[in-house]
Amino acid sequence: MTLDLETAAKERGIKYFLVSYTDLFGTQRAKLVPAAAIKSTCKNGAGFAGFATWLDMSPADADLLAVPDPDGLIQLPWKPEVGWLPADLVMNGVPVEQGPRNILKRLIKDAARDGLQMKTGVECEFFLITPCGSEPADMADKQIKPCYDQSALMRRYDVITEICDAMLGLGWRPYQNDHEDANGQFEMNWDYDDALVTADRHAFFKYMTRSIAEKHGLRATFMPKPFMDLTGSGCHAHVSLWRDERNIFSDKSDEIGLSQEGYHFIGGLIHSADALAAITNPCVNSYKRINAPRTTSGATWAPNTVTYTGNNRTHMIRIPDGGRFEFRLADGAANPYLLQAGILAAGLDGMRNRRDPGQRLDINMYTDGHTVEGVKRLPLNMLDAMRALERCDVLNEALGAFVPSYLKLKNEEWNAYCGHLTQWERDTTLDC
Ligand code: GLU
Ligand code: MG
Ligand code: MG
Repeated sequence: MTLDLETAAKERGIKYFLVSYTDLFGTQRAKLVPAAAIKSTCKNGAGFAGFATWLDMSPADADLLAVPDPDGLIQLPWKPEVGWLPADLVMNGVPVEQGPRNILKRLIKDAARDGLQMKTGVECEFFLITPCGSEPADMADKQIKPCYDQSALMRRYDVITEICDAMLGLGWRPYQNDHEDANGQFEMNWDYDDALVTADRHAFFKYMTRSIAEKHGLRATFMPKPFMDLTGSGCHAHVSLWRDERNIFSDKSDEIGLSQEGYHFIGGLIHSADALAAITNPCVNSYKRINAPRTTSGATWAPNTVTYTGNNRTHMIRIPDGGRFEFRLADGAANPYLLQAGILAAGLDGMRNRRDPGQRLDINMYTDGHTVEGVKRLPLNMLDAMRALERCDVLNEALGAFVPSYLKLKNEEWNAYCGHLTQWERDTTLDC
């Protein structure tokens, strides 16, 4: 039963609701609505001038209405008088085809028609940096390999535990926090759930982490490769597919515990990988995480080939144990809703068309990848990924009008990047 927000506001002491939607670029946009007005906002939506946001609209378009989903309510743990509400987008009385949450909901419904539910967990890596963004907050361990460093983790105990306590209070079942492989880089894990629940939590987690870091005089960034000499920030997704409360990716008789359906789903991700990258690795900087020279950029742990494997972190897909796989391509800039939508669309295509994922490679791709013939590289830059998305029938069909809008806006971003002269070019070319 859908939650009554007026009653919830009274019972929980909520004075304001933050009616929030995520645009194509992953930015959350919101209106702050007093509790007394939430009933009419649920009925009529909160109005936005769509052209002012990243949704490919013009000033001539009608109002964009953000209609809150009461079931997604999350009370801000650091400011409980505010309730965050994820919203779906409507224009002229119909769902906005480019709305990332709308797209995910549509694909989830499509899967449900086949009796299928995707469950996922995301691993959001992020850096705590100085407020001006010039370096990680902690450089004390610069010379030491910082992965899992106990002192580096405990130095940020106050921030990390404030975020973790918040997740405990919200019932997300967080289970571990660590210091990752770059100075000032952390990862906090909470339990997997239904893809829409995870996408809402993922969006909220980014907002919460930034807000709590700010309270502590720091800045949190999910940028894929904020420092060229340090490991980047991935956003791995652990995926399983369920029918009648049974995980259909699980098959104990398989060597590594994955069912035939699981292999076909992976086959779909492999089939559409280069196009999918345009969504899961959405910015210019994303390609510096997956393609950085491994010798000068820390151990990157990020994939650069369209391959899958067992429990080995050098591939795009890792199958750590039975019944699920880890999609390691996505990065911290991925839009939480489009990430899930992209995986679901490509994976379902794989299952429906019984796509063959090819040979499982149990080798270290960083050192021995060249020994295997025919291995496909992931896109080298955003433009290659965008071109692949433009050509990809699977994603064009599944994501509909979103794709041309997204490509149009991303093209503008690519052109802005091309119009930028870098210091590297000047240093290497001035005396040519
Ligand atoms: N930071 C790595 C990445 O960019 C992942 C490290 C890990 O496996 O946790 O994907
Ligand atoms: Mg990690
Ligand atoms: Mg991982």
